[in-house]
Amino acid sequence: MPKPSMIAIDGPVASGKSTLGRLLAQRLGYRFVDTGAMYRALTWRAIKLSIDLEDEEELSQLAANTKIEFAPPGDNVLVDGHDVTREIQDWQVEAGVSLVARVAGVRKVLVEQQRGLAQKGEIVMAGRDIGTTVLPHAELKVYLVASIEERARRRYLELVERGEAADYEAILADLIRRDEIDSERPISPLQPAPEARIIDTDGLSADQVLSEILSMMGEG
Ligand code: C5P
Repeated sequence: MPKPSMIAIDGPVASGKSTLGRLLAQRLGYRFVDTGAMYRALTWRAIKLSIDLEDEEELSQLAANTKIEFAPPGDNVLVDGHDVTREIQDWQVEAGVSLVARVAGVRKVLVEQQRGLAQKGEIVMAGRDIGTTVLPHAELKVYLVASIEERARRRYLELVERGEAADYEAILADLIRRDEIDSERPISPLQPAPEARIIDTDGLSADQVLSEILSMMGEG
């Protein structure tokens, strides 16, 4: 295939989208955008403002009035100029984000911003609905899957590496809950685009998944 300018990477929680997306973008010299960070950033702001995460009206207004940016170094996430890169990984944010992400008004605002970020091409974008909704014309769509146990194990190791408290059973329960909310919501539910290439990453290293994608692109 000709070198794709827009690459969509979707999949459930902890399927390896961000790790793979970063590696792929680095390899191609493209920009990487983790759209999950945007939903997390908004959730962080809503919690700070004590907004009820079931209040669709308030959350939609908040989305319209909040500035979410990615800034160097790395892909730091700024909310109204405040760096929240670390805070958006907190368990409170993790516990609330799927509730915020199911609100139509929130998705409308963030999807528009995501399309804006992709406008110039040369982009790898990771999320849940990139291939189906945000960038339906992406030339390459990848959908990562992995068993729930493998995904919980990866998330557990991530937390341990960051020096944070980690409880495998609690992580597993949270993944199941978030997958359920993300898959069953009426707007942009988690599902592969019909033309997406599905890659099962169980037992594969990030580098092996990267090689598989590069060979799909004829760059292996
Ligand atoms: O990818 P990550 O786990 O950081 O995403 C956090 C949450 O944001 C997901 O569980 C999902 O509810 C939501 N999300 C979404 N659409 C995207 C990216 C993330 O609904 N494109």
